[in-house]
Amino acid sequence: MSERGVFIGRHVVPRDREFYEIRNPADTRQVIAKFPRLRRDDAREAINIAKDSFVKWSKTLPVERARILYKVADVIESRADEMAKTLTLEEGKTVPDSMFEVVRTINLLRFYAGLITRGEGKVIQSQDKNTIIMTTREPLGVISVITPWNFPLSLPAWKIIPAIATGNTVVWKPASITPTIAYELVKAFYDAGLPEGVLNLVTGSASEVGDELVTNKDIDAITFTGSLQTGKEINEKVGRLNRFIRVQLELGGKNAMVLSRNGDVNLAVELTVRSAFGLTGQACTATSRFLIPEDMHDEVLGKLVERTKKIVVGNGLRNGVDMGPLASKEQYDKILSYIEIGKSEGAKLIYGGQPIRGSEEFDHGYFVTPTIFDGVTPDMRIAKEEIFGPVLAVMTYRTLDEAIDIVNSTEYGLIAGIVTRDISEAAKFIEDAKVGVVKVNKPTIGLEPWVPYGGVKGSGNDMYKEMGEEAIEFFTRIKATYIGY
Ligand code: ADP
Repeated sequence: MSERGVFIGRHVVPRDREFYEIRNPADTRQVIAKFPRLRRDDAREAINIAKDSFVKWSKTLPVERARILYKVADVIESRADEMAKTLTLEEGKTVPDSMFEVVRTINLLRFYAGLITRGEGKVIQSQDKNTIIMTTREPLGVISVITPWNFPLSLPAWKIIPAIATGNTVVWKPASITPTIAYELVKAFYDAGLPEGVLNLVTGSASEVGDELVTNKDIDAITFTGSLQTGKEINEKVGRLNRFIRVQLELGGKNAMVLSRNGDVNLAVELTVRSAFGLTGQACTATSRFLIPEDMHDEVLGKLVERTKKIVVGNGLRNGVDMGPLASKEQYDKILSYIEIGKSEGAKLIYGGQPIRGSEEFDHGYFVTPTIFDGVTPDMRIAKEEIFGPVLAVMTYRTLDEAIDIVNSTEYGLIAGIVTRDISEAAKFIEDAKVGVVKVNKPTIGLEPWVPYGGVKGSGNDMYKEMGEEAIEFFTRIKATYIGY
């Protein structure tokens, strides 16, 4: 397997650096690629280049930047099948789920290309005569993009595309286990004619490369998605440096789906199973708590288990598979340890809860069964902590008020769902759920790129939204101009 490069200004293969292997989580015998473990100096160089490139790129007309973004979309469209396959090989999710990321990336490119062409400000009436006051938006400079492995293509895309569209330059550190699809994305930008140095890709450790991307004085803003723990670390580091830069932190979730007494049971079960076990539960938007009315417990649970049994686990490349492996050994160990925690806390393991072994398809990958715990109470760790795997906690409630209290009882506040036919109940839920996104009769997973996204409480620092028109706000600042005549 050949050694792959990075993008520090241009494509380079740093032969004097150590290379590490990327393996397929469905079959760890298979090496997908090798990437360099860059050092702090390499990240520094990438930041310097991004800073130099900003001078010209920020002056490029929006219509020209849009032209390039449309072209990137076309390039990715022409490589869609190949990119989806690479994503599956590297991260493990099913090919349709990978294709969903590819398509979303294409949509994001075209959306921001259109939006940026219309770049707008305000004209404000002055208190003086013969005066025009206007506001315009300017790019910030060099943006650090630090991303996780679970949506290794579309999530970085929803940061990088609006950053570049608005005239910023980027240094991107993907998660260590998913650099291959990151490489493919950056390559598509350059193949479409992006000028050198506008988008830089650096692979390596969080402690060296990640740290440089957070602490370097030439960084003008940081956009990060990852765990709450890492979000706190980054926030602290920036605080210690006493620099007034924008930091966007999108962190975890402990999302609940509530079935109301007035809701369609079959729909609730379907949405919950899809959102809990689809993507192997490795989504910030996954449903990890299912709240059901106490007196409907047995009926709902029976249906939940029946539906869960139908999930086909296997290699994401195989047709008909619903749920791939966990993405890494670290995740695999973590999920199995949470299953043990659930048991020891007294929750009832009613489905799954094991690694899958015993055949050629499973013996070399990080496969576990979809897992359901019943009798979970809000004080249990499996009800509070983000597990990030296919583990669902079933909880019961008596009144909608109680259900909403349970929904709001964790330190997270990303997404909450309700299944109901009662519009007043839905309205109350929308108002009282302390989250950034509410879903009514819809799965918690699945976001649309033209819609603002972001959590509250421990799910993010809640200063700016991602995606939608709102993303432009993070990547630009407002300048007010007074003109007398
Ligand atoms: P994940 O489980 O998704 O890897 P993390 O929050 O640990 O979640 O990591 C998300 C991203 O942040 C990864 O690219 C990781 O390398 C990077 N990262 C982790 N710790 C730090 C840190 N202290 N400073 C900068 N980047 C970090």
